Amino acid sequence: MKLLVFGSLNIDDVYLVDHLVKEGETIDSRSYTRCEGGKGLNQAIALAKAGAEVYFAGAVGEDGAFLPAFLSSFGVRTEYIKTVDEPTGRAIIQVDDAGRNSIILYGGANRRISPETVDDVLCGFGEGDCILLQNEISSLDYLICAAHEKGMTIFLNPSPITEGLKRGPLGFVDWFILNEVEGYGLTGHTDEDGIIMELLRNYPSCRVLLTLGEKGSVYADAARRARRSAFPVDASDTTAAGDTFTGYFVNAILNSEEVDRALLIAAQAAAIAVSRFGAGRSIPYADEVERALTA
Ligand code: ADP
Repeated sequence: MKLLVFGSLNIDDVYLVDHLVKEGETIDSRSYTRCEGGKGLNQAIALAKAGAEVYFAGAVGEDGAFLPAFLSSFGVRTEYIKTVDEPTGRAIIQVDDAGRNSIILYGGANRRISPETVDDVLCGFGEGDCILLQNEISSLDYLICAAHEKGMTIFLNPSPITEGLKRGPLGFVDWFILNEVEGYGLTGHTDEDGIIMELLRNYPSCRVLLTLGEKGSVYADAARRARRSAFPVDASDTTAAGDTFTGYFVNAILNSEEVDRALLIAAQAAAIAVSRFGAGRSIPYADEVERALTA
């Protein structure tokens, strides 16, 4: 069984500011950090740190050559990442003293994924292989259909929610992994029960993993539900919580762990990630998660 993350690669430009810039205003920033970003990249790192062998497919521009190298440093296979004639995807992020942020996204190379790119990559995958997707690249509908036709198991983190995504071939998705905001965007319901019931009504054979921030997480399918509370920690930075949870949960499921155990491992990994600053770098390795679980 092979595992493929087909997703976004971004350069995150993070500026610390006294306040978020207003219309017509020019302000100085206190610091600038360039970070590796993109939901695809973060989830692939979480999978790799959890111990999975993971392939990554996506696109960068000439300015993003360090991103495949960063993924490789965690053992992620990067031969399906293309370099295209377009700037790498970018996020310009302001963070103020109170931790509020404001973000400008530019899809760039992530928007250059075409049906031909999808066909080229999926040549290397087949029946029984797994694919983890988010909504930060182009040709997602085509990709979902092509992966389904190949007989691959499809995990989708439907983020961000867009009208196009809602109209997409979501009936082919085997696993939805989403938070409450995404759950609301997809179903119109704000409560856990409403989100889960609506997803199971629309896609009866799907499995749902709904994360609820510090309230924990819930797994649901047509036959049963399982619940997991979050581990109490001093949260420093919740940026990578969902991506860490996703990577660890998917890895555990692919290793045939019971759902309850997968939820436990993922919650522990996410709790460690939120206790540290940063995204990809804050995600713990499996041995640290294991030690925390047995402590
Ligand atoms: P996202 O980052 O996608 O918004 P959530 O906020 O739902 O995702 O968080 C995913 C998981 O991370 C939660 O189910 C929980 O296990 C863990 N988590 C998130 N925030 C905290 C927190 N403050 N303390 C402990 N665990 C947390």
